Amino acid sequence: MSKISNYKELIKDINRNKVEKLISDLVKIRSPWFEEKEITKFVKKWLEKEGLNPWYHKVSEKKITKFEGNNVIAKVGNDNGPTILLNAHMDTVKICDSWKRNPLGAEVEGNKLYGQGALDMKSGLAAAMIAMKELKKIENQLKGKVLFTAVVDEEGPYGLGTDALIRDGITDKCDMAIVTEPAAAFAPKGIHNPCLLIGARGRYLYDIRVKGKSAHGSMPYLGINAVIDASKIVLELKKMKLGSHPFLGEGSLCVLMMEGGGETISVPDKCRILADRHVVLGETEEIVRKDVEEVIKKLNIKSKVEIGFRDAPYPEVKGYGAYITSKDHKLVKELESSFKELSGQKPVLSNFASVGILIIWEIKIEQTSLQ
Ligand SMILES: [Zn+2]
Repeated sequence: MSKISNYKELIKDINRNKVEKLISDLVKIRSPWFEEKEITKFVKKWLEKEGLNPWYHKVSEKKITKFEGNNVIAKVGNDNGPTILLNAHMDTVKICDSWKRNPLGAEVEGNKLYGQGALDMKSGLAAAMIAMKELKKIENQLKGKVLFTAVVDEEGPYGLGTDALIRDGITDKCDMAIVTEPAAAFAPKGIHNPCLLIGARGRYLYDIRVKGKSAHGSMPYLGINAVIDASKIVLELKKMKLGSHPFLGEGSLCVLMMEGGGETISVPDKCRILADRHVVLGETEEIVRKDVEEVIKKLNIKSKVEIGFRDAPYPEVKGYGAYITSKDHKLVKELESSFKELSGQKPVLSNFASVGILIIWEIKIEQTSLQ
């Protein structure tokens, strides 16, 4: 069977009504990170109804978050070819107060559906679920396998769902992966659909502790004011030279939090700074730490400063590295041609503006036939 007739067979039962219904059902389920119980059940049940025999994969983090939840996994195909991982997250960010529509209403207006997570990424989750349903129908024609993973806690602080997939060896046999995040929405300015995001910057979260010396507030000259010294550091961080990369763009730094002092008449002896640093290829943990050490050295402040990174459930993971998948990778080439055959347009290759989202990543290339 030729590739194009495969596509046609695959998409013949997919229409707007079915897609809209599934996205709408998903959006109507409230599922901020760490509160995914209901949506997890829905996804598993939906896949069960389509004969996909899904199962739960337990996610448990005991050290910091005490979170317990479940990823939903299903597979279709056989061992006669490569395994492609299809990954989507089920959680959303927390619902904020400024919604003008019902965030769980899934209201449709023209070609837009409004609701919490409609874009990020219940539409991508629906796409992956529908792909599994259609692939199941032609399972005996497949040469290879698709492993579907709907994960919990992608929006939360540590990405525990996908982390557990990797730690528990579930992704070990995957040759390549597609994450159905909304591409154009998270691409740099000026990039529109169709686009394929094949790289992302990395990220480190500085946790900087400034220790001064307390004294009575009426005699500040006797102490060392940690809040003032931390303020100097914050202003200097803003000017720090950051990395840049021809494909990934510029690095960035954002001070997220500064906390110190109190209401008593005392010179504050402690202040904490949290700052996000997005990095490009080549910027390692060592470089990122050294940059701040140099900033502090130049300031000549009296407080003692400890530069660390955010406490993480797994201490070996201090940050996320930047990555780029080769434009010549088999999966990138195949996706480019599929896009073109289906939509008539060649997708733009670009990068994800934030971090930790592997739109496509190469695990190993042993077999490269995708047909
Ligand atoms: Zn997302």
